Amino acid sequence: MQSDITFDALRLSAPLLRALADKNYTTPSPVQAETIPHLLDGRDVLGCAQTGTGKTAAFALPILQRLSEDGKRCKPGRPRALILTPTRELAVQVSESFATYGRYLKLSHAVVYGGVSQIPQVRALRRGVDVLVATPGRLLDLLDQRALELGEVEIFALDEADRMLDMGFAPDVKQIRSLLPQRRQSLLFSATMPDAIRSLVDQILDNPVNIHIAPVATTADKVAQWVCHVKQPNKLELLMHLIESDHDGRVLVFSRTKHGANRLSVQLCKAGIPAGAIHGDKSQNARQNALERFRVGRDRVLVATDVAARGIDVKGISLVINFELPDEPDAYVHRIGRTARAGAEGLAISLCDRSEFRLLKGIQRIIRQDIPVMRDHPHAEPVPQRAEGGSGRGRFGGGRGRQGGGQGGRSSGGFRSRQGGGGDFRASKPGFSKKRRPARTGR
Ligand code: AMP
Repeated sequence: MQSDITFDALRLSAPLLRALADKNYTTPSPVQAETIPHLLDGRDVLGCAQTGTGKTAAFALPILQRLSEDGKRCKPGRPRALILTPTRELAVQVSESFATYGRYLKLSHAVVYGGVSQIPQVRALRRGVDVLVATPGRLLDLLDQRALELGEVEIFALDEADRMLDMGFAPDVKQIRSLLPQRRQSLLFSATMPDAIRSLVDQILDNPVNIHIAPVATTADKVAQWVCHVKQPNKLELLMHLIESDHDGRVLVFSRTKHGANRLSVQLCKAGIPAGAIHGDKSQNARQNALERFRVGRDRVLVATDVAARGIDVKGISLVINFELPDEPDAYVHRIGRTARAGAEGLAISLCDRSEFRLLKGIQRIIRQDIPVMRDHPHAEPVPQRAEGGSGRGRFGGGRGRQGGGQGGRSSGGFRSRQGGGGDFRASKPGFSKKRRPARTGR
């Protein structure tokens, strides 16, 4: 679903409209159309929106506008807006968005996160910043050292709050909140709304407007999902087969452990498939490096763990492969949200060993749909009745088949969405053309 209104109708100022025009953004996405007016009015907002819906601009644009309109100037070490993100990668991306959208405004911004030297960060803070994007740990370190203080914060934003709690940042967030002025505007975005978020909301937001773009924990619209039942020892061969069959686009592979991510990337490289790895044990520079190689296409494949992959916004990820299923069903939603961003179509394939059936069932419960089974691959295992979703043939084997699991689309908060999408799908041979996608599984 794309909104009918234009950015002009949202009362955005000329410098912001100019920056949007530079980006060729013509129409606000639903989360932007719904959120921006309330934030411009000074209301607190609770946003439930899936990844890739444009939520960063939904809060960055009104924050920039409000800061530029109130005419105040920032003081050294006293930011006027604070945006907290769970990971360094996301912090960098959010701060890049502020730079992009705010390029015609006279506002300064900085980003602080751990794993790198704090010296340039402290220097930037001393010069004075209007907008500070931060991860909780480094922010608290800098607060301890009195490199900044939060008494002038007018707007506080918590991005990807569910992941923040998953990563154990709840105490940090509470401590940071206690250092903020009482009078402020606050907003909180989260892809899912577990109970823990609800209690955080009560502590942070004041009479918020609820923006609900997609039902809680629904999978990203436009992602065709499949599961391959396969024995653990055959997963590597199947992975290579799937990657080689996907002739275009980048492939993001999820591994459950850091060690596993390293090993997989080495094995893929040995097999002639350029692959990098990204996980929490790598230095910030190594992570940015791996991301950059993936972004520019030097590595076609990036193997990631959940934490490290959070916030990856790389265009053209056509395929997400779950080498192992995540322990937490919510992580599945985040993983597959890495493909099909900004309205593009995407494909997510999960490799499921018998020992992972339980996890598959948990995922299907929270996404409230059965994931169709891809059968025509070289290592297909029989599917126990109870774990089975639909059945079908994917694009990666020979033969023909009908998909059993596609039931049509669901309108969502993406940039474009189509209804329909069930229907039959035939795979011809490995590497079939892009048009021959398996049908989406809507709810
Ligand atoms: P986000 O959900 O904020 O991570 O945004 C997902 C992607 O959509 C990013 O690559 C944005 O640059 C892009 N995007 C954000 N707003 C728009 C828009 N109105 N039109 C087209 N693309 C957009």
